Amino acid sequence: MNSPLDDTQLGSCVHCGLCLDACPTYLETGNEAASPRGRIHLMRALADRRLSAYAPVRNHLDSCLGCRACEAACPSGVPYGALIEATRPLLEAARPAPARFTRRTLGRLLSSRTPRELGWAVVGRAAGRGFVDRLARRTGSLALARLAALDPGPRPRLPDVFEPPGEVRGSAILLTGCVSDTAFRATTRYAGRLLALGGIRVTVPNHQGCCGALALHLGDDRAAEHHLAALLSATAGPHADWIVPMAAGCSAHLRHAGRHLPDNASAESFARRVIDPLALLAQLSLPAPRHSVVARVAVHDPCHLVHAQGVAAEVRRLLSTIPGVTLVPLSESEVCCGSAGTYNLTEGALARRLLARKLSHVAASGATIIAAPNPGCLLQIRSGAIRDDLPVEVVHPLELLGRAHGI
Ligand code: SF4
Ligand code: SF4
Repeated sequence: MNSPLDDTQLGSCVHCGLCLDACPTYLETGNEAASPRGRIHLMRALADRRLSAYAPVRNHLDSCLGCRACEAACPSGVPYGALIEATRPLLEAARPAPARFTRRTLGRLLSSRTPRELGWAVVGRAAGRGFVDRLARRTGSLALARLAALDPGPRPRLPDVFEPPGEVRGSAILLTGCVSDTAFRATTRYAGRLLALGGIRVTVPNHQGCCGALALHLGDDRAAEHHLAALLSATAGPHADWIVPMAAGCSAHLRHAGRHLPDNASAESFARRVIDPLALLAQLSLPAPRHSVVARVAVHDPCHLVHAQGVAAEVRRLLSTIPGVTLVPLSESEVCCGSAGTYNLTEGALARRLLARKLSHVAASGATIIAAPNPGCLLQIRSGAIRDDLPVEVVHPLELLGRAHGI
């Protein structure tokens, strides 16, 4: 069997090391094998069959967050994201069957609505509750803090369409995502209402399913293709100008729909219309916010928003329109918080170290609000802030904008 790793892409790395200081796992470990350059060496050795994907090799490649900070920093244009995506199925095939089964099960549970809703029926009652919050602080449990960090129920039912109050200037399909739909539906509602305020008619297709990003992150490329093809069918109705996923990992993935499904005639056109809700809001002329939010706000830049889509200034520009907001800097704002899809579940130790690094910068920023424009980062940083009792609110910028616009 030929290697799925592209020889030209691998060969484009000149091993200059200019990406090393951008790599969170290298910053944290100082280990060359946990750096982009080291990992590309390992991929090359796998492709040439000089190495097999045995446990130590898998560990170095598994510890990659897929954050693509290296790709943004690389002067040679090495497409690291595509390389690690092509490598993960090789690692999966070499993994012992029980570990492979566990990871597949995790992917299926997170990407299927019924198990998620059943899970929510059990844990949702404790979400956002003060006693869980206090227990998390007392025990230092990040798992309990995660529960406390979820939006408390009841969750608002989303309408099928968010109609603009005035002139219609365009149309969008809102992709609610998997975890974000279950745990942060209020944020999705803010997205729909803000876009409508900007003149966009927003439809929310029923049964839209998962986009496949989670499965791809777990190395299950066939499941990822299946999910993506189903999503293209579910959104194939009337034409929409934009496709707006609620999670940055989903939009980063969907912007490459054409590469993932080269034989699907609609994939390229779909990919071209994918945009993050904040990037789209920044293009619209929203009315001036009516309410103030008096706070020192620091922005955390999610990897898949800043590195994979180049969206960062837009978030700050939108927040700076809110009366009372003072933007303050956050050191290493673009370094991963350790959430990274399922990384915080599969690579817990390094994820916790990256979270501690992020929280030390949060504490030093003097911010009273951290704006985290991605559900995974929001959950991760809010959990850490709850557990460590930091005097800071961690919210999605869409929520701040929603408060300011009184919606
Ligand atoms: S990935 Fe880019 S920056 Fe990093 S070592 Fe290779 S060529 Fe240099
Ligand atoms: S994707 Fe992120 S963690 Fe992986 S090598 Fe690149 S910078 Fe490092």
